Amino acid sequence: MPPALSDFSLPDLERQLATWGYNPAHAARVLRAYYAAEKTVFDDAHDTGPWRWPAGLRERLRAQLPPGATSLAARQVAADGTTKLLLRLADAHTVEAVLMPDFRADRAAGCVSSQVGCAMGCDFCASTKTGFERNLTAGEIVEQFLALRHEARAAGRRLQTLVFMGTGEPLLNLDAVLAAVERMADNRLGALGWRQITVSTVGIVPGIDALTATGLNVHLAVSLHAPDDATRAQLLPMGRRFAIADILAAADRFQASRGRPVTIQYCLLKGVNDSLYHARTLATVLGARRMHVNLLGYNPTGLSLRGVGYERSPDETAEAFAAELRAHRVVAHFRRSRGPDIDAACGQLRRRAAEAEVGLPDF
Ligand code: SF4
Repeated sequence: MPPALSDFSLPDLERQLATWGYNPAHAARVLRAYYAAEKTVFDDAHDTGPWRWPAGLRERLRAQLPPGATSLAARQVAADGTTKLLLRLADAHTVEAVLMPDFRADRAAGCVSSQVGCAMGCDFCASTKTGFERNLTAGEIVEQFLALRHEARAAGRRLQTLVFMGTGEPLLNLDAVLAAVERMADNRLGALGWRQITVSTVGIVPGIDALTATGLNVHLAVSLHAPDDATRAQLLPMGRRFAIADILAAADRFQASRGRPVTIQYCLLKGVNDSLYHARTLATVLGARRMHVNLLGYNPTGLSLRGVGYERSPDETAEAFAAELRAHRVVAHFRRSRGPDIDAACGQLRRRAAEAEVGLPDF
């Protein structure tokens, strides 16, 4: 695939400009303008303030380093304002990114994907049904961020936080994820802030340790979804590879190095993992850890790979589960269900678009 400007870090572009005979100092201006204005940076009408483009640079970039390699393939907007974007990549693969309005009227949260498809095989997830296709590049992740920020601005909101909870396992594409995070968090570029970014994992122990070793001050979320290894292995095949005790030990190491609580993600599935027994077991497993449990409602995706039709836990069951956790001094919150009237589950829009083959919904 030909490179795009979104693939370039600041040092990368400095080197490229030097190769073309330009002062490398222009790289910071170019990238700052790109991150501030997204793909309009090459438009002749784009205002770069007092800085002026060196002669011929804009034309050269336009010809050899286009601002982006993705285009909008589909867009769905839910009644609650949740906006799901389907972005088409240069090789015609597609990937999802989601903008979620915050309670505060001027803020929004974004969710990005790290891979095309996913190999993790979580039985309740639509993303895994088409299998793993390839890792995303750092530039393709950055472009999701820019597309979401564009959506947020159009809605009068500021993209305040970003989570890697879309399709894919970010810790299995760690180099690209970290390169993208560095650009999105950099004050001169994306200016999102390290602490506003959450990397979510299904529990890849070496990946958690690798993230810990980077020292980057991002937030970590671990998708547990079950309190015991047997239940977890049914829901997440990865559970057979890494025991809950080992995952939590790796999360402990991350938490100790950052001093901020790790989030435990737990998707409540009716009759599968939502009993009071499961809640008590989860509380026991977490013990005295200062971790926060995020309880998620399930958006059904049809029959799973194993032929199971998972259902959302009823509200009263979910409330009782949370109360049991809290009774055992576990901090537990519900994460609001987003966009139930669109293809809200991870990978659902992409899969439906692929199945339809022709015509994509809601441009
Ligand atoms: S839940 Fe996440 S890790 Fe699991 S299959 Fe879906 S995208 Fe992959």
